[in-house]
Amino acid sequence: MLPEEVLREAQTELLDWHQTGMSIMEVGHRGRAFQSIVEQTEADLRELMDIPDNYHLLFLTGGATAQFSMVPMNLFAKKNHADYIDTGIWSKKALTEAMRFGQVNIAAQIEYQEGLACIPKEEKWSLNPDAAYVHYTPNETIEGIEFNSTPKTGQVPLVADMSSSILSQPINVRDFGIIYAGAQKNLGQAGISLVIIRDDLVHEPAIPTPILYSYKLHIDNKSLYNTPPTFAWYILGLTVAWVKRQGGVKTFAEINQHKAQTLYHFIDSHHEFYNNTVHPDCRSRMNVPFNLSQVNLTETFLQAAEKEGLTNLKGHRLAGGVRASLYNAMPQQGVDKLIEFMKDFARTHG
Ligand SMILES: *Cc1c(COP(=O)(O)O)cnc(C)c1O
Repeated sequence: MLPEEVLREAQTELLDWHQTGMSIMEVGHRGRAFQSIVEQTEADLRELMDIPDNYHLLFLTGGATAQFSMVPMNLFAKKNHADYIDTGIWSKKALTEAMRFGQVNIAAQIEYQEGLACIPKEEKWSLNPDAAYVHYTPNETIEGIEFNSTPKTGQVPLVADMSSSILSQPINVRDFGIIYAGAQKNLGQAGISLVIIRDDLVHEPAIPTPILYSYKLHIDNKSLYNTPPTFAWYILGLTVAWVKRQGGVKTFAEINQHKAQTLYHFIDSHHEFYNNTVHPDCRSRMNVPFNLSQVNLTETFLQAAEKEGLTNLKGHRLAGGVRASLYNAMPQQGVDKLIEFMKDFARTHG
């Protein structure tokens, strides 16, 4: 979901953006009006995430999926092998794509202890100190698995797919070589992605690369080589400004922690009816998947929830079950309402 304030702002300004007499969809992307959005969005993100000057911000198309290709295409230069941490469906998609361009070493893989999914301890990872980079997915959106700290990779640049966790808590950008995120979970609407890339990683791609897949090209052109998705960029800007107004990432870290804790606590204290199969050490604060012990009641549960206005709860088509996504725009009241519903449902069907 998007913050209601953002939707209302967009609605108010839809026909006439800042006295231009035009919708933001109609102004030229190289004109002064749009340029002010570009500059404000970058300034807000730099402030919110404390992004140092030696990092570039890019606003690109193709979603996080395009980044699965762009990362190896641009970073496989002197070396064409990288380490990937496989924690779930999104990291598997990223590493499968990287295999088309070079060698992939799966340095660690999700484990199961007594039926609970666990991220193996870093001491057990088989990292190659000579790798071009290490790629990982801080939050696995589908399985609801999240790292509770940033991996240490020494001199090897760390690349993170933060699509479903960006701006949900403070991070130290200096720990990363590249951070990328599709906007549609925590940054706004679909159609645009944010890439934060350290300057020393920017060079001409070593392999023949479609022109739009070169980081250097986009940096040289300030993400305006071709027509960008201007409306999506605008919504991203409004969303980032909203995060700032609410108090920034520290505030959201507390709110998000509390939202997730209340839901996990409820699930765990009703394990005869609901269950989550992720180890408490790596449970996601953003996506809480759970199953009903009586699996055949799942469809009934989803339909009854929908009637209460509790929507988008169906688990990803690859995972099944139920999934509650608790992105920044979801208020605590949304979680409380879900819990009340789950209580009632368990009472009537238990
Ligand atoms: C949603 C998601 C993606 C896919 O993003 P697209 O914008 O659809 O390409 C990739 N990685 C993660 C972690 C996601 O949550």
